[in-house]
Amino acid sequence: MINREVLSIPGPTGSGIDIPYFELIGATPGPHLTVLAGIHGAEYSSIAAAKKFVAEVKDQEIIGRITVVPIVNILAFWARVPFVIPVDHENLNRAFPGNQYGSFTEIYAFHIFEKFIKGSDFLLDMHAGDIPESLEPFTLFEESAVESKSLAMAKAYGIKHIVRQRAAGLVVAGSTSATASSIGIPAITAESGQNGILDPQAVDRHLAGLINLCRSLGVLAGTPWADREHKIYDGWNWLRAEKAGWWQPAKATGELVKAGDSLGTLSDLWGEVFANILAPQDGIVLFQTSSPAVSENGILVGLALS
Ligand SMILES: [Zn+2]
Repeated sequence: MINREVLSIPGPTGSGIDIPYFELIGATPGPHLTVLAGIHGAEYSSIAAAKKFVAEVKDQEIIGRITVVPIVNILAFWARVPFVIPVDHENLNRAFPGNQYGSFTEIYAFHIFEKFIKGSDFLLDMHAGDIPESLEPFTLFEESAVESKSLAMAKAYGIKHIVRQRAAGLVVAGSTSATASSIGIPAITAESGQNGILDPQAVDRHLAGLINLCRSLGVLAGTPWADREHKIYDGWNWLRAEKAGWWQPAKATGELVKAGDSLGTLSDLWGEVFANILAPQDGIVLFQTSSPAVSENGILVGLALS
């Protein structure tokens, strides 16, 4: 049975914000997987894959329960705004588990966490490179008490590059997968697609990963494929701009780099280079800002460490 539901969250002007979602209920009991997409509202390939999954799944294949929320950040979706909620311009994926008495984004995160994350057995959060961001597909899981199950989820998704985020010096705090795994829910973040483009190949990569993940977790009938070739990176480093400038990347996304390699330069608007960004360690460029316009403390490169 595939039910259409709506979660209504209090909006900034008092009117409700309606978030459509699907409840896929199997005839036989089983685990509960929650699938989120559109936490960042312009990451269209991941949103489209979640929609396509619901459109194509066969009722009789469903076991247990799969909750699918294709566009969590519905305000950013309609506003075509990258990374943030266009009310207080905070990043929803840094705000979990949220706070019902906090900022607008913290309240929003609170409702999403309470409704969709807290009661799940497993969590998948689907992303892509946002409008100013180029990206090599990867999955991410966190160091936690349930990390072996999270890693199994990442392997089942079938994307070659898998990043393990260390708890010490956490690069990304307050994300869906970090918060879920910290309360014992195995979770991954999956990334495919870039630059806010609705790319059929990126959609299909997400969709294939989602279907295989569902099979391996036992929420969808069918035999999962054997483990695919993968490489696990133990930790990563997000390089940022010390001050605002024109960003010129030197490496392609997906390129392997050595410690000391130049990853790109920052220059002022007269064209004078004021910073040469060097790789602190060997690794691979999994995503980078593709827009030349970078603000102070803006992200330049996401380097997974090898
Ligand atoms: Zn995202």
